Amino acid sequence: MIASHNPGKLAEIAALLAPYGVRTVGAGALGLPEPEETGASFEENAALKAHASAEASGLLALADDSGLVVPTLGGAPGIHSARWAGPGKDFRIAMARVERELGQSDRRASFVAVLALASPATDHGGEVATFRGEVHGHLIWPPRGERGFGYDPIFVPDGYDLTFGEMDPALKHQISHRARAFAKLVEACF
Ligand code: IMP
Repeated sequence: MIASHNPGKLAEIAALLAPYGVRTVGAGALGLPEPEETGASFEENAALKAHASAEASGLLALADDSGLVVPTLGGAPGIHSARWAGPGKDFRIAMARVERELGQSDRRASFVAVLALASPATDHGGEVATFRGEVHGHLIWPPRGERGFGYDPIFVPDGYDLTFGEMDPALKHQISHRARAFAKLVEACF
């Protein structure tokens, strides 16, 4: 099962797993609540989401936790990336805050994604494995591009001139933090 209520994430993960003959079901479809993300790292948050879902469903559960990491801002927004957009989930606000806090400082940034795979306690004793993917780049201002989501319009990956918001989604999905984490999971599992 996929430990997420986000339809975009569910579709993306289902498509990534389909070639391996894995059928998926979402946490929402099973009527499971969204656990609070109380961890102090991407690994802890992904693991707690996967673990809670595996326990509640009795199924192998996959969760992901991701965000934008800006070293000059001490790693912020990091695990709080979604929260910086406020209750209205407005990423123009979140991007403007990053830009304001950054000022003239070093503009390097990375996207990080951690996938966590958890088995229920009855199966292998409730183990959790995590897989981390990163993509490095820099931040630009003003935002560019209408594609993608979240902080995509201000992030230019190393080796490219386009932001993730301008890039063909197929290319983003080949080089993204999530793709890199998924490649590690595939190597470990299939
Ligand atoms: P999560 O649902 O707690 O993992 O929150 C992830 C947040 O990180 C998202 O809401 C976005 O703000 C940000 N984020 C993660 N991956 C990406 C990406 O590929 N592009 C843009 N923003 C991202």
